[in-house]
Amino acid sequence: MRLIATLLAVVAVTPVFAADKLVVYTARNEQLIKPLFDAYTQETGTTVEFLTDKEAPLLARLEAEGKSTPADVLVTVDAGNLWLAAEKGLLAPLDSKSLTGNIPAHLRDPQNRWFGLSVRARTVIYNPAQMKPEQLTTYAALAEPEFKGKLCLRSSKKVYNQSLTAVMLAELGAEKTEAIVRGWVANLAADPFASDDEVIQAVAAGRCAVGIVNTYYFGRLKRAQPELSVELYWPNQAAGESGVHINVSGAGVTTHAKNPKTAQHFLEWLSAGKAQAMFASLNLEFPANAAVAADPEVAAWGAFRQDVINVNEAGRLQVEAVKLMDRAGWK
Ligand code: FE
Repeated sequence: MRLIATLLAVVAVTPVFAADKLVVYTARNEQLIKPLFDAYTQETGTTVEFLTDKEAPLLARLEAEGKSTPADVLVTVDAGNLWLAAEKGLLAPLDSKSLTGNIPAHLRDPQNRWFGLSVRARTVIYNPAQMKPEQLTTYAALAEPEFKGKLCLRSSKKVYNQSLTAVMLAELGAEKTEAIVRGWVANLAADPFASDDEVIQAVAAGRCAVGIVNTYYFGRLKRAQPELSVELYWPNQAAGESGVHINVSGAGVTTHAKNPKTAQHFLEWLSAGKAQAMFASLNLEFPANAAVAADPEVAAWGAFRQDVINVNEAGRLQVEAVKLMDRAGWK
């Protein structure tokens, strides 16, 4: 009995950051995030337990667990998912000068309930044997008749395309966006694919001349098959144009976190320095913190201007985007 009482006393006076434990729910694959947990543990002594799952089941689980959730932190991909988690009341607003200083305003929730930690560009790819970069300009231009039978897209069920469409809705309005999406559908060389990888392979195989994908899939495939006949193109770069459509993977502290201070500290740690570089380069993404340099392999794709509309718009207009894509026949 006395032994237990002593142990309890020791636990009670343990400082916040020592011998602490964090529980992270993550939609990132283990190999893309575990090295960061290990580095954090090494630096702070805090152990990180984690659960990985797909985005939707992870959110459903967090919601179902409510107050009894063991999760302190949610890490997920796409602003659409982060927005949804915040909408459902699953994430707590954070008051952190370090996070608002490190992460640009367009890459975080206006109410600071989630923060983008890496940037993924959803850009145009082309087969150099079939298309010259001089023929490319904007996402919208891919709806023009000259691209008839030349375009490959992923399914509209994927949140990445829903976010792309939602951001176009925010920037161009419903009428223009619907005309563009209808034009894309009319220009398809094949039925929409189940993955970005399949889109890249179809372009490389010459089944289509152009496609729209996230750059890290391109990076991974090119690493494995450097001979693939496919190149990146940065659209919407001319003055007055929006810039390349980007999205984030990011994180928030859960509303019912048992260790909210440590959880916030973990996010702050992820938003700076070596951790920030590591978070981005593990998946060939761009650091969200502009002061941190991109991985050389990623930097080699060349500089581009990104769209600085708040990625939160992707969530806010997601339902409208899905309806529009459906109306326009994007399967
Ligand atoms: Fe992905």
